[in-house]
Amino acid sequence: MIHVVGAGIAGSAAALALHAVGADVAVHEAHPDASTDAGAFLTLAENGMRALQAIGVDEAVRRASAPLRSMRVTDGSGTELASRPLGEPGGPGYRYLTRARLCAVLQDEVRRRGIPLHHGERLVATAGEDGRAVAVLADGTRLSGDLLIGADGLRSVVRTQLDPDAAPPRYVGSQIFYGTAPGTPPGTSTDRMQFVRSTATGSVAFGFIATEHAETWWFARVKGPELTPDQLAAGTTERWVALLSDALSAEPGPRAIVRAADRVLVTNAYDLADVRMWHRDHTMIIGDAAHAASPATGQGASMALEDAVALAEAIRDEDRIDAALAAYEERRRGPVEANTAASARM
Ligand SMILES: Cc1cc2nc3c(=O)[nH]c(=O)nc-3n(C[C@H](O)[C@H](O)[C@H](O)COP(=O)(O)OP(=O)(O)OC[C@H]3O[C@@H](n4cnc5c(N)ncnc54)[C@H](O)[C@@H]3O)c2cc1C
Repeated sequence: MIHVVGAGIAGSAAALALHAVGADVAVHEAHPDASTDAGAFLTLAENGMRALQAIGVDEAVRRASAPLRSMRVTDGSGTELASRPLGEPGGPGYRYLTRARLCAVLQDEVRRRGIPLHHGERLVATAGEDGRAVAVLADGTRLSGDLLIGADGLRSVVRTQLDPDAAPPRYVGSQIFYGTAPGTPPGTSTDRMQFVRSTATGSVAFGFIATEHAETWWFARVKGPELTPDQLAAGTTERWVALLSDALSAEPGPRAIVRAADRVLVTNAYDLADVRMWHRDHTMIIGDAAHAASPATGQGASMALEDAVALAEAIRDEDRIDAALAAYEERRRGPVEANTAASARM
């Protein structure tokens, strides 16, 4: 039995991929229910779409998402500075959707394939006993398995259990604002990501998609100090809009979009640049738990999906768990560390 901790993107995809190669797998998610909170939006790049194809969920994700065919960079007044198509000719293309929607599609498929998915099960510790991995849940339950996969995100408990000296997430110097605004700017296309290069305020990167739902989804990356938990807790849409409007005072286009926001989410951007231990004995980490990147390259979800496929293939192809985990790490370290470094530079 393989226990997967976390039913986010990496965990749900890993369960599907492992089940497809014949593994007996169960998923344990701390969240008490399958939350439908919209959350922030994300883009799936072609490598992520290929991973979804490999686990047979690409059509379901296509139905839940919209295509992103090009990107365009303008200055604050809307003058085009650059544009290019996204994706290779004949490739699966880029898509965009909310993170919560992607998780919901993956979790629905996990259930549809008969894979046990338990909500309200929080891992608090791990142990190794007699060559097996043990997950200790908050209620004291001990789950024993051949492999324990920590897909428990940026603040992974499994990571710190694997290596108590693991460096904590590193603040990369940007606050990230996500907002939605009713309506779309005139003349914008729904399959294009637009970036606004801020000429007056070099400290803000702004981008938006005019969605098919007649809503504008936007983000702003603002260089500045890490927001404290109190600041994050006290933030309201009105306060965040006021703060961003000030930062964007010289940029009429982005400022108008921000001022129309009906919902704003704010988070600090972190990464994990150097997680030395990805696995020990029969316990391992994947996805953000192992290699969170700041969001600039928009690759976190796609990398998590690729992890799932690579891990299942390693388990399928190797006779022993330790050999499979070594093969998996060998295959994945290069791409994910390159992405984390590239994202940190942006
Ligand atoms: C602001 C922002 C914007 C982003 N934009 C993009 C983008 O455009 N494109 C892109 O590809 N990526 C993007 N990403 C990155 C992407 O969201 C992450 O890389 C991706 O969600 C990682 O998936 P994961 O499954 O590893 O972790 P998560 O999605 O964090 O999932 C972890 C899961 O584990 C559960 N969990 C946590 N602790 C425990 C525990 N102790 N026991 C049991 N369960 C637990 C959590 O509840 C959660 O369900 C963005 C990230 C951020 C922060």
